[in-house]
Amino acid sequence: MSTPRPVVYVTQPVHPRALDLLAGSADVVLGYGDDATPLDDVLPVVEGILVRTRILSGDEFRRAPNLRVVARHGVGVDNIAVADATDLGILVANTPDANMKSVAEHVFALLLAVKRRLVTADAVVRGGRFEIRDTLVGSELGGHRLGVIGMGRIGTRVARIAGQGFGMDVVGFDPYLSAPEIRQRGAEPVEQLGDLFRTSDVVTVHVPLTAETRGMIGAAELAELPPHAVLIHTARGGVVDEEALIDCLRRNGIAGAGVDVFEAEPPPSDCGYFGLPNVVMTPHTAAHTEGALERMSVGAAEAIVAVLGGGRPAAVVNPAVFGSARTRAVATPSGGLGR
Ligand code: NAD
Repeated sequence: MSTPRPVVYVTQPVHPRALDLLAGSADVVLGYGDDATPLDDVLPVVEGILVRTRILSGDEFRRAPNLRVVARHGVGVDNIAVADATDLGILVANTPDANMKSVAEHVFALLLAVKRRLVTADAVVRGGRFEIRDTLVGSELGGHRLGVIGMGRIGTRVARIAGQGFGMDVVGFDPYLSAPEIRQRGAEPVEQLGDLFRTSDVVTVHVPLTAETRGMIGAAELAELPPHAVLIHTARGGVVDEEALIDCLRRNGIAGAGVDVFEAEPPPSDCGYFGLPNVVMTPHTAAHTEGALERMSVGAAEAIVAVLGGGRPAAVVNPAVFGSARTRAVATPSGGLGR
């Protein structure tokens, strides 16, 4: 009699290559599509979960006695109850390098859209109002100061594109990095967040959503920005206090904002951003490029296959689980672990 194959649950659509990879060593159950199976139905047997944005709670983990690995398609793990997973010995993996290029490039898509008024300009041409072009005046990036909050993977890439590509003067705030590390990543360090807000023409946010960063950019911080400033928000809804930003934009406290992430996704139909002409929004698509989507899907599937086969995934969020009963088969780390 053959040994039963492990059950792996996939919460949301992923690249077909990831499904092929998983199907090579597991029975794959889908949480989407015409034959969607609710996660509750497989909790008693599931050994691996590939998750995109669905929330995975501690209660669900406690009802999954065989669960060994949760792999996040992407980098942020704020939708996963990581502390509960760690307590239970469930390994959480992510794909931190898969989407940084796409997100960093999207920052400039939003920034140029706001600064060069692309949405309005497009409507002007389509609407046969070409002659009002003299009223459409943007501003340059070169020579302006960019403040980067969070100098990790995405923040670093943004800093380099801004400095080397657009000739911006780049400053960075990241209390978890030393001044030389921040310089080495392409920005001049600032020690106080207030200094970054007071002196930047553009601010871009690249911190994870944690208890510490929730609401870290609120009315007081926005009030420090000069009126011509632009804020770009591609981190996570909740890091920037949405009501405070909407209020600031409504009063023209700053010139504009580019927003990819929202406190509620999708935002409600009465969301305050919708009536504002100085905001350009995208529906959490900063990482939605063909390359990044494939890398995130395949990377997350590889992490699950690795753990089920007794190996170690490339990037582990909670290395404290190594050696626990559920992960005892996983090779212990030999060196630095992915964050
Ligand atoms: P990363 O872990 O490489 O970098 C995060 C950086 O933030 C780290 O250097 C850390 O030291 C710093 N940091 C933490 N707390 C801070 C604080 N209070 N003040 C200043 N800096 C702080 O992560 P990354 O790959 O650069 O991604 C950053 C975030 O971007 C993710 O956590 C995720 O929420 C978001 N993201 C969004 C999308 C999207 O589609 N919009 C896609 C990918 C990532």
